[in-house]
Amino acid sequence: MPIRVLGEKTISQIAAGEVVSRPASVVKELVENSIDACASRIDIEVTEGGMKSIRVTDNGHGIPRSEIETAFKRFATSKIDDASNLYSIGTLGFRGEALPSIASVGEVRASSRAASEDAGTTCILAQGEVISVQPAAVPNGTTLLVNKLFHEVPARLKFMRSAGTELSKITQVISAYALSYPYIAFRLIADASDRLVSQGNGSLVDAATAVYSPSIANAMIKLDSGSDQSFRVEGLIGEPGVSRGNRNYITLAVNGRWIYNRRLSYAVEQAYSGFLETRRFPIAILRISVPLADVDVNVHPAKSEVQFVREDLVFNMVQRSVRATLLTTSPVPALQRATISGSTRPGTERNVRWQDGILDEPLWPTSKLASGSEDSKENAVRVSTTGTDLLSKTTPLDTLPLLRVIGQSQETYIVAEGPNGIYLIDQHAAHERVLHDRYRSRTRNQSVETQ
Ligand code: ADP
Ligand code: MG
Repeated sequence: MPIRVLGEKTISQIAAGEVVSRPASVVKELVENSIDACASRIDIEVTEGGMKSIRVTDNGHGIPRSEIETAFKRFATSKIDDASNLYSIGTLGFRGEALPSIASVGEVRASSRAASEDAGTTCILAQGEVISVQPAAVPNGTTLLVNKLFHEVPARLKFMRSAGTELSKITQVISAYALSYPYIAFRLIADASDRLVSQGNGSLVDAATAVYSPSIANAMIKLDSGSDQSFRVEGLIGEPGVSRGNRNYITLAVNGRWIYNRRLSYAVEQAYSGFLETRRFPIAILRISVPLADVDVNVHPAKSEVQFVREDLVFNMVQRSVRATLLTTSPVPALQRATISGSTRPGTERNVRWQDGILDEPLWPTSKLASGSEDSKENAVRVSTTGTDLLSKTTPLDTLPLLRVIGQSQETYIVAEGPNGIYLIDQHAAHERVLHDRYRSRTRNQSVETQ
């Protein structure tokens, strides 16, 4: 076949494949448009998992009659112009692709009335083409109705799952946005029955009640890294008592955009280490704010992933905030199960025993631990809590993982719990090490006089 430029219809369908791959992605795009239109109420009604119909109605600022046809052209947007900086985007949409993509894979009926106009308009499209534009008596705001999604695109239809699965994906989208925007009232109706209704009163706890349940919402702890910073994380995290069997309950929004970010989810998981059993995952709703210029939102056609300029900073902020919130609100259990026998002076041999008999042999000679002058690797020793070959499993570490302090022993050792077991840290040696590192970092670029 000779090389030639594809026709507009094929181009649209190819592009649509990236933006709208299933009913839930159509719902996501429409809801994002409603949020960008400053709606305070968004109703979503779907039938047969969205494959038969999707209707999204909002009370936002609407689309003026003169612009409604343009809204369905590719790369048509009111959110940026050619002079805009693509690296400081404050709206959820900006690519101007969603409406034309949806119209190319389903039948669309758009009704809208702009706040500035006396009457509304209904625009009907089929296979991406405008069929009619008529005046209509409609309230302020916009209703987008999408029928027969993918019916003309058999290749796409093949990938649809059951209506139930598609509906659960739609519910996930609405849940995430109800949690990210507690001051917007969301209502998801599926096959004529309410599936999710949020009040939109601004309370994140109430939004969590609507999305999860009153008991889960009551077991959430408020988290806020502080409002005076340009980087901020705030939201709710589950008490360690409420955990889940998968990671789907970690909801992340960056500047109001629901995103997927493996590393940030992992930051949350790590912060819970020592608080949750293995293979249990936390519930968390984290709303992250970063300066617009610090995040690139144009890295994914469906805008579900973002790239941070300072990813480590965001990662650390999330991890530290979650960890600090857990530590301040979860009581540190008293170290009752450990009994210490022998001398109490550091530097002499003694045994640590667990009363319940899990450990009944000496862990290691404490002289190794107590010596403040030794390398810091020696100051923290990881101890496996299983098996009897404990001594052979002690391993020197270069850096410590996140630990949960569970007590102090003999005013000398910090006893902590980490991902792989119990840690004993010689606090005097650790203090010296901190001072040493601080001194080193201050004098890194200076020549130091030595005698
Ligand atoms: P984008 O959101 O990237 O701008 P879309 O194709 O999703 O592109 O929408 C095109 C334009 O249509 C938007 O820029 C906006 O002006 C208008 N629009 C779409 N949905 C709505 C809505 N619910 N309320 C008001 N305007 C809307
Ligand atoms: Mg959009």
